[in-house]
Amino acid sequence: MTQSNGENPQRTRSGLRQIRDGIQSRSLRAKKRVENITKHDVKGFFRRNAFVIFTVAAVIIGIILGFALRPYNMSYREMKFFSFPGELLMRMLQMLVLPLLVSSLITGMAALDSRASGKMGMRAVVYYTTTTIIAVFIGIVMVLIIHPGKGSKDEFTKQQKIEQVSPADAFLDLIRNMFPPNLVEACTKQYNTKNHSVMTLPTVAQFKTQYGKRVVHVKLTVNDTLFTLNGSQEITREEVIPVPGSVNGVNALGLVVFSMCFGLIIGSMREQGQPLKDFFDCLNEAIMRLVAIIMWYAPIGILFLIAGKIVEMDDITSMGGQLGMYTVTVICGLLVHAIFVLPTLYFVVTRKNPFVFIGGLLQALITALGTSSSSATLPITFKCLEENNKVDKRVTRFVLPVGATINMDGTALYEALAAIFIAQVNDYDLNFGQILTISITATAASIGAAGIPQAGLVTMVIVLTSVGLPTDDITLIIAVDWFLDRLRTTTNVLGDSIGAGIVEHLSRHELQSKDPEVGNSVVEETDKKPYQLICQENEYENEKPADSKTKM
Ligand code: ASP
Repeated sequence: MTQSNGENPQRTRSGLRQIRDGIQSRSLRAKKRVENITKHDVKGFFRRNAFVIFTVAAVIIGIILGFALRPYNMSYREMKFFSFPGELLMRMLQMLVLPLLVSSLITGMAALDSRASGKMGMRAVVYYTTTTIIAVFIGIVMVLIIHPGKGSKDEFTKQQKIEQVSPADAFLDLIRNMFPPNLVEACTKQYNTKNHSVMTLPTVAQFKTQYGKRVVHVKLTVNDTLFTLNGSQEITREEVIPVPGSVNGVNALGLVVFSMCFGLIIGSMREQGQPLKDFFDCLNEAIMRLVAIIMWYAPIGILFLIAGKIVEMDDITSMGGQLGMYTVTVICGLLVHAIFVLPTLYFVVTRKNPFVFIGGLLQALITALGTSSSSATLPITFKCLEENNKVDKRVTRFVLPVGATINMDGTALYEALAAIFIAQVNDYDLNFGQILTISITATAASIGAAGIPQAGLVTMVIVLTSVGLPTDDITLIIAVDWFLDRLRTTTNVLGDSIGAGIVEHLSRHELQSKDPEVGNSVVEETDKKPYQLICQENEYENEKPADSKTKM
């Protein structure tokens, strides 16, 4: 008998039975698995995920402790004492950045031939550009839709003077910093053009000097004003001229460029370059072992970094409406980019679950949140990508240091959004051309920003100057910047890490065709020897009569 819709009831019943049986057997298996969980398994789980568990716990305890201590109104000195363990973590991580950046880039480049590194570099650059442009776009769309600025500055306080920077000078400084004349100085300082006001003498004054005491009467026009000069008068004009200067901080861009070129050359020298390659390989491995030790301290440092900042921060309830809306807008933009755009991109390219990949990065992301520095987080990012996500070292060593230096999606999104917010507060209508200028300068400013706390706020001067917005208005958003900085740094680290995953997937054929040992370190190769010995022993013992016990 067939039903009116054409289905055979017997077949339907057997289908249902199959589904029921399937569910039953699966639930039985799950039950058995739960029953079979031993104390040993639980211990193993905690041991495997100890770092992540401690770090998450540190964040929670840090937040609770911070809010619990706020009512005690600590003095500035007490606050500094309280944040001391956090400060130590920052210092330890920063200590490793320089040798890690140089050694990883040199070994990363030396492990690949110029064609492979060229292709990988191209993929990385395309990824950085695409994601930064998307981030800027999201920032602009968010601030235009939500419109947090209401055209009044009444509720803002803390007006200060901000030093002016010309966009052209900032752009030239970026290029100058790529080629540091002194490598030792590049480890501590960056080139930075400063503006100096000088009083210049126009040509007529020089004329006066030339004629000594002779009295001359000359008429001249300076800035549309007519001056009459006789021998006793002097005129001067104030002019702002760019002069060379420097700021403290590692010139990461210069070191990246140098290390990449140096690594490529060592790679092309084959046997002759081997000692140097081994040296940097060994240095890299030693630094990573130091990172492994510091990682045990990281949860304590993060706890005090977060608690210290909460104790220190201004009262959030007194935050103005516009500033509150601005904060919400930045958070929404960063969330869209970090939770939707980057994972989608990863899935589309690799066809793998992006959230499993992000799960492996948890400790790096929390460290970024705690330190607000993508450079300081770099050692932990390396560890997470190589050990948890098993990303090829030849990719991480190349993509991560470059990414931490120039790829800052969170910062780019933030700078574009903040500039438009400042325009809204000033009731300044931006046309399409100006919005385009903001997008371009925000991208450049994010490349130029160092991976240190609140670097984005400094480079924002360039974005504001490019469209004629008042640079002093950066002080309007300083109150919330410490918090937004943590979020954008986390987005920056996520962007770099997903970039490494994507580049590895796209470069898998080239990586396969190369000798995989090239990417492994010398130290690991020696590590492998005892393992090989054990294998041989076991093979030998397997051949022994069954009653002989295997040595463990
Ligand atoms: N703190 C950020 C970073 O280290 C840079 C910024 O201020 O946006 O990535």
